[in-house]
Amino acid sequence: MIWTLIKALTFFLVVAALTWGATLLLDSGEGVRIVAAGYEFTLGPLQAVVAVLLALVALWLLVRIVGLLMAILRFISGDETALSRYFDRNRERKGYAALADGMVALASGEHRVALSRALKAEKLLGNPELTNLLVAQSAEAAGDTRRAEQAYKALLDHERTRFVAIRGLMAQKITEGDRDTALKLAEKAFTLKPKHADTQDILLKLQAESQDWKGARATLDAKRRAGSLSKDVFRRRDAVLALQEARKVMEDGASIEAREAAIAANKLSPDLVPAAAMAARSLSLAGDAKGATRVLKKAWEAQPHPDLAAAFAEIEPEETPSARLKRFKALTAIHPDNPETRMLLAELLIAAEDFPEARRALGDLPETGPTGRVIALRAAIARGEGADEAEVRAWLARALTAPRGPQWVCDKCHTVHAQWGPICDSCGGFDTLSWRAPPEAEAMSPTGTELLPLLVNPPRPEAPPPPEPEPEAPVDLAEIARKGS
Ligand SMILES: [Zn+2]
Repeated sequence: MIWTLIKALTFFLVVAALTWGATLLLDSGEGVRIVAAGYEFTLGPLQAVVAVLLALVALWLLVRIVGLLMAILRFISGDETALSRYFDRNRERKGYAALADGMVALASGEHRVALSRALKAEKLLGNPELTNLLVAQSAEAAGDTRRAEQAYKALLDHERTRFVAIRGLMAQKITEGDRDTALKLAEKAFTLKPKHADTQDILLKLQAESQDWKGARATLDAKRRAGSLSKDVFRRRDAVLALQEARKVMEDGASIEAREAAIAANKLSPDLVPAAAMAARSLSLAGDAKGATRVLKKAWEAQPHPDLAAAFAEIEPEETPSARLKRFKALTAIHPDNPETRMLLAELLIAAEDFPEARRALGDLPETGPTGRVIALRAAIARGEGADEAEVRAWLARALTAPRGPQWVCDKCHTVHAQWGPICDSCGGFDTLSWRAPPEAEAMSPTGTELLPLLVNPPRPEAPPPPEPEPEAPVDLAEIARKGS
């Protein structure tokens, strides 16, 4: 406190003396006359300036010497580290200056400068806990991955920096494409800080990519508990993951567990179309046609969708078109005005050869919602009603240029997928596919080949149904109209 006061006073006196000296110089025009202890000096203007500078140097030296003397005094009076502290202080000051310079350089994008300052600070401060982080980050930014890795590994030893070190190494492994190691590091980072939102997201993505659905569900649950996920989104995503888990178990042939997992998925989120279709399929596989029907009805209530209709058709693969039409009333009675319901009904009626009724079922859809699928159905009706070839061709030509209607489209990269999946094939986004109309540019395939089967094979509803549980004529038409490039 006193020391600070002395410093301030000295500075004030020096400034006052300088001002006084300058005024004198200006006034006299020739020099300064100094009278001290009976002696008299006369200085010219230049000499006066030099004298002032010398006085300043002397003052600075005096301050240093006093500082040193105080340190020696403290050392003598028992403070053993006083001397080394005095000499280290300079070093430390330079070290912190280098550290600060490095941080500023890193922030302003001068990565090489940042790295060299960081290394200098490391040398001067000898406190790796403090400097390694800057070394690691500036080395990484400067593209020196080896040094960055070394620095991050050194940070692993300190409790305070372990988490940031693991995250740094994890980011490196992800860039290198070493997903297995990255996953292990992400798991470790997650155990250190389970509430860290970014770590949760990275871990979830890595787990989904490596098809660790069980682990991903646990991470998702942690996200929900940390409050970074709304209940609705959690339920939807958990259903997505549960569905994936079920699919995997089914591949392994353990059908009972698969069924249970898929049903659990369906229970969690009855509006999730793929989960419902999956659950219905496993139920009907177990011979529970009633349960499958119930599940699909519930899902259709939430959102009419061709995938649900396909699953509904698979419940009774052997039935005749008229029996099918009757059984599908369970679905078509719900949301009768929904375009999806009307198209489904038209498809069923076409299969049952009731073309005028099919045309009525479609109603004004060819005008109000002329998607490729609607127009393709209209063409099939025209052919079935015995319209001349020119009219059928006219419909088909229109179908080629009609928008494709809703598809599984990635919200992130807008890629159209023929089938639903938890991860976008194109950008790797998790749970990004939604059922909607694709952007105009991607709405039509350039060749329109998806409509060719209609030209080549006119619908033949009297043919016996195929023995396999493959989707039949109505679903085929849907596929033809909707399948993309
Ligand atoms: Zn995507």
